[in-house]
Amino acid sequence: MIATQPGISDPDSVVIIGGHYDSDSTNLDDAPGADDNATAVSATMEAARILRNYNFDFTIKYIAFAAEEIGLYGSDYYAATASIRDEKIVGVVNLDMISYVDIIPEDLNIVSNESSQWLGDLFTSTTETYTNLDAIHTVDASFRWSDHSPFWLQNYPAILAIEDTTIANPYYHTPGDRLSTLTLSFGTEATKAALANVIILAQPYNAALPKPPNGLSLRIVTSHSLFAAKKHILINWNANNSNITGFNIYKATTSHTNYTRLNVQPLTTTSYEDKYLLLDSMNYYVITALSSNNLESHFSVEVSDDRE
Ligand SMILES: [Zn+2]
Repeated sequence: MIATQPGISDPDSVVIIGGHYDSDSTNLDDAPGADDNATAVSATMEAARILRNYNFDFTIKYIAFAAEEIGLYGSDYYAATASIRDEKIVGVVNLDMISYVDIIPEDLNIVSNESSQWLGDLFTSTTETYTNLDAIHTVDASFRWSDHSPFWLQNYPAILAIEDTTIANPYYHTPGDRLSTLTLSFGTEATKAALANVIILAQPYNAALPKPPNGLSLRIVTSHSLFAAKKHILINWNANNSNITGFNIYKATTSHTNYTRLNVQPLTTTSYEDKYLLLDSMNYYVITALSSNNLESHFSVEVSDDRE
């Protein structure tokens, strides 16, 4: 089930919040799945209920994934087809079991892989800013048993948010996984954490500024000289605005971290070539648009050569 944020957003650049909606149990005729994973479905629906009143630069998709318990089928299908159609996924917030509290205070655990570390760090800091929870961030690419993992396989940034797993929910995958065992005040805070993260990723639309450029594409050309092979990266984009006087291009060597501007004067074309790069270098780019009254847009979606 997928619901999409309407409005001014860029349909090609997508922020995802979601979690699986199937449940499992030792007795398949009685699998209430309150913590695992009605908690995440409720958080996703609550995010949609609140955010539908606002506009964002990027599209927000609210997704309840099918068949997680029998092998991540729903998220696997989504991530694989998104990659084929080259959907620009800004980040995926996957929620799985967010309301069982064992010892107080319960922490919210955040799991990322190496290339999603920026997203885990962002989630941790927004959790601490906007909620009363402590967030514990672990970078562990072997933590694959939930719907974030198919996105990792396609090189998309994704994190899992889950109640702390030091002591597991004793009702997990049993007929006892019921609402009465949950601490909803914890689930409310975890929902706020996810909401804050999605809002930051999707960039609240600001009518005073030009819109971020869209339609970004990146192409790699390799050249061989006598002694070395180098790569050249060609980036194209659409202005997505009228009355634009130019563009800036920013680059980072780690995703979403410390962008520095490459151009001295505003660019007047909708393409840029970054030349003579080391073959094994990782390069991440965003573009902004400049208006005639010298205002600069938010960043576009990031494109990189690690997804090529
Ligand atoms: Zn689950």
